[in-house]
Amino acid sequence: MDCLFCNIIAKKFPAVFVYEDETVAAFLDINPVNPGHTLLVPKEHFKNIFDVSTDTLCDMTTATKRIAPAIRAALSADGINLIMNNERAAGQLVPHIHLHIIPRHSTDGFHNWKGTPYKDGEIEYTATHIRARL
Ligand code: AMP
Ligand code: ZN
Repeated sequence: MDCLFCNIIAKKFPAVFVYEDETVAAFLDINPVNPGHTLLVPKEHFKNIFDVSTDTLCDMTTATKRIAPAIRAALSADGINLIMNNERAAGQLVPHIHLHIIPRHSTDGFHNWKGTPYKDGEIEYTATHIRARL
């Protein structure tokens, strides 16, 4: 399959790796939000949250628990964002599931998105529709 991240995992395309085990790999994003911005990927190809297996997602979570504190310590970060973009509408450009592990500094000036309060009754209506599908 012609997938950029599969090629990186197979070492057919260069990347700077910070972690690798049997199931996942982590390498530095070439266009980081902050230095140390890391992409964690499973070695098996899945597109995103909608097709990934639960086992693989667990492997990603296990690795994140180990990698995030290392990034925080190495970059003297004040915090970490974990972000996964799923589908183009959500900003996914590379169609191989990946978790952005982004070191944040209280002085970095980036702002997360702002919310807007629900209108009357909208919160219960929304929750009802989600619950009905679980
Ligand atoms: P997303 O928008 O969530 O699909 O994020 C894709 C990320 O992959 C972006 O942050 C890019 O900077 C990053 N990226 C694209 N090509 C490479 C590459 N060859 N090596 C490392 N990171 C990459
Ligand atoms: Zn892939």
